[in-house]
Amino acid sequence: MTDVPVPPAAGARAAGEGGLSAPTRHPLAWRDAAFYDEAALHAELERVYDICHGCRRCVSLCQAFPVLFDLVDNSPTMEVDGVVKSDYGKVVEQCYLCDLCYQTKCPYVPPHEWNVDFPHLMLRAKAAEFRKGEVSAARKRLTATTAFGKLASIPVVTEAANAVNRSPTMRKLVSKLLDVHPQAHLPEFHSLTGRKRVARLPLQTVAPHAAGPTRGRVAIFTTCYGNYNMPQVVEDLAVVLRHNGVEVKLVERERCCGMPKLELGDLQSVDAFKQDNLPVLAQTVADGWDLMAPIPSCVLMFRQEIPLMYPEDAQVQAVKRAIFDPFEYLMHRHKAGLLDTAFKNPLGKVAYHAPCHQRVQNIGPKTRELLALVPGTEIESIERCSGHDGTYGLRNATYALSMKIGRPVSARAEKFAPDAVVSDCPMAAEHIAHGMKENRKDGGHPISLLRRAYGI
Ligand code: SF4
Ligand code: SF4
Repeated sequence: MTDVPVPPAAGARAAGEGGLSAPTRHPLAWRDAAFYDEAALHAELERVYDICHGCRRCVSLCQAFPVLFDLVDNSPTMEVDGVVKSDYGKVVEQCYLCDLCYQTKCPYVPPHEWNVDFPHLMLRAKAAEFRKGEVSAARKRLTATTAFGKLASIPVVTEAANAVNRSPTMRKLVSKLLDVHPQAHLPEFHSLTGRKRVARLPLQTVAPHAAGPTRGRVAIFTTCYGNYNMPQVVEDLAVVLRHNGVEVKLVERERCCGMPKLELGDLQSVDAFKQDNLPVLAQTVADGWDLMAPIPSCVLMFRQEIPLMYPEDAQVQAVKRAIFDPFEYLMHRHKAGLLDTAFKNPLGKVAYHAPCHQRVQNIGPKTRELLALVPGTEIESIERCSGHDGTYGLRNATYALSMKIGRPVSARAEKFAPDAVVSDCPMAAEHIAHGMKENRKDGGHPISLLRRAYGI
């Protein structure tokens, strides 16, 4: 086993959550043949697994590390060299690319000479599996979020899709067709999409003011989930921004950000989405607009994953600089005195969950800070994995594990007896609410609470 030094004490890593600096990160060499070469991949997996075995700092973060350490501890040598290579994938299968191990725990990330990037090694292994055709058709279908949403938002199909969702018999069929566990919470579909809702808002006349890094003009990238499954959130976002003097429009056209395909290792599809989205987004930025998406995973995709896949692409870099998290944006405006703080309605007890894909952006607890400005609001802030993690909380093989991971979060929310359960990731909010004893159906997005607080 590699001789591993004692990791620094918790909190000693300057690049931790909310820290002032981020670890450096190498671009993804996904266009090189060596990226997919099985022997090279296994050698790198063995090297990094060995470092992790000597460190074990991430054991509580997710299932990937316990699975790895069990494989090592139960091997004949009790070292990584005793683990059969065909079992390496069992670790990969448990990783949902939340990025927490890299961003908040690992002392060996670059520029450390050991150069450990566990999430991107998992991504490389997923991409190699996908290229070998080892990913099921059901999983491919499940991650086709744009195509699915488009189809299910056709009015007659919307009703049918929601009826299927509610029928235990049909859910068994869905379980086979899409690899979705029959008990997993599936969102509703809407024919009145987020884009349609924003488009029908009354015309706005506003003289936008720049403040800090914000230009006061926002083009919303609605996201697949926001557009088709939670259109109210997209409308609420537009209404809250407009209320605060921000000019709002929709990005002219959009496809999936690519995160579900990234999680699958399908980098060709990520590339296809990038080729469609980036010219439109970059032109929008060049025309003087900031960008915003209501789902942290989609913001992270444009801020981190796509830039690491295309480090030389000027359009990608322009979009990376111009895309914002909603509450990050509003807090920039607040700093400049441009946020309306005349709230009309108290929010009561709010169980607020900060999702991993937002925390790893190192923007700080902006949502909690803004909600705390609303008088008559008590916040229980939960910074822990919800267990939803894209398709991990849906799939037959991982649904039970995801409920187990999310149980402490749901339990904390339950104990607080909240009036509202929210997360910047509405999928996580629904998953947490689903895991509460009363199986609540009201998990939502904090931007909707803010609209309620304004009474608009
Ligand atoms: S990226 Fe997240 S899920 Fe993957 S190994 Fe790291 S902590 Fe676990
Ligand atoms: S990813 Fe880093 S911190 Fe986590 S177990 Fe491996 S070496 Fe340790």
